[in-house]
Amino acid sequence: MRKRLTTAVIVYFIYGVFIYLYLYFLTDNTIPSNYEGTAVDPKTFMNARELMLSEEYSKIKNLLFFIGIPLEWFIFFLVLTIGLSKKFQQWAQSASKLPVVQMALYFFWLSLLVTILTWPFDWLSYKISSDYQITTQPFNGWIRDQVMDFFINYVLMLIIVAVIYSLMRKFEKRWWFFAWLLSIPFTLFLMFLQPVVIDPLYNDFYPLKDKILEEKILDLAEQANIPADHVYEVDMSKKTNALNAYVTGIGPNSRIVLWDTTLTKLEEDEILFIMAHEMGHYVMKHIYVGIFGYVLLSFVGLYLIHRFMNIIVQRWSNELKVTNVSDLSSLPLFLMLLGMLSFAASPLTNTVSRVQEKKADLYAIELTENEEAAVETFQDLAKYGLSEVNPPSLVKFFRYDHPTLLERMLYLKEE
Ligand SMILES: [Zn+2]
Repeated sequence: MRKRLTTAVIVYFIYGVFIYLYLYFLTDNTIPSNYEGTAVDPKTFMNARELMLSEEYSKIKNLLFFIGIPLEWFIFFLVLTIGLSKKFQQWAQSASKLPVVQMALYFFWLSLLVTILTWPFDWLSYKISSDYQITTQPFNGWIRDQVMDFFINYVLMLIIVAVIYSLMRKFEKRWWFFAWLLSIPFTLFLMFLQPVVIDPLYNDFYPLKDKILEEKILDLAEQANIPADHVYEVDMSKKTNALNAYVTGIGPNSRIVLWDTTLTKLEEDEILFIMAHEMGHYVMKHIYVGIFGYVLLSFVGLYLIHRFMNIIVQRWSNELKVTNVSDLSSLPLFLMLLGMLSFAASPLTNTVSRVQEKKADLYAIELTENEEAAVETFQDLAKYGLSEVNPPSLVKFFRYDHPTLLERMLYLKEE
């Protein structure tokens, strides 16, 4: 077992070195030479300091992203192989006879351990955002959000894994299918609650404060057939300098939300362009397309997890100290596979998302008929978020659910 662990550490290390070399030496994020000096060239809209900061910041963030992803898988692997998972299971079983209580206890210890082990990483990410003045949230507030994240995720994931493990005990071969069936109403319910129950725990949501601007946005919304009471502002300026707006919720809870940072930093016609883009998502029902895609993917994902778990537990039962797939102690394996499959699917989901984003951009241009405002918006998004205009391919492939800013500025010019 020692040998497997050593191999895992070495593989992780080599991967880290490769990612570092890739981001820092093998790729560069400058734009193609034929666009130099045009509106898409960051040199024309950022000063030297902003250029340097955005390059540094993007590289560090990308590095953290790629190094951080397998860290959790590694922790799950470690928890299994050193027998800690088995220990957690024994503690939970000695504390109660009820499977639900056992799961709640077991999952609490596991979640706590993973959170503590990955915390330095989260902190580093926060610290860097803070140093580059993207995050403006004080440490206390950040910790408060982290604690809340922990408990919200704990409760939601506990419901999911408790149901899945009780299905595993009852239906050895078909549990994944029943789990998938149940996941559909559960997902819809969460999407319905998100904007009114979960999001308000983190931030304040209210109608737009600037009434003159609100008037103009609602005019635009009317052209797009969107009910006026579905547009909100959120107080993100307490936490970040970055700009954003998004569409969330389903049915009567669907809404367009605008970060207040966007309102203070952008010109009026840029804000209108962003709102028109979000209206594009709203009108084209991209949320529902997303939910449908997610339901399809989870069908495949749950089936694969079922197959992989059977094979792995049969073959490495001793090493992983798991006798049955439905044992509590197999949960790290389940979560590890879930994480790996989600990561493997991310290029696909990102591609679908990028198509939707392009459609929303084109919709916004049609609605506002203001191409200049669109280009200026993208320039400001890059500037205030210290984002790279033309990221390396691997970064785009795994991280970009929006087209790159270079692509967005270019296709708007072509339309
Ligand atoms: Zn969008």
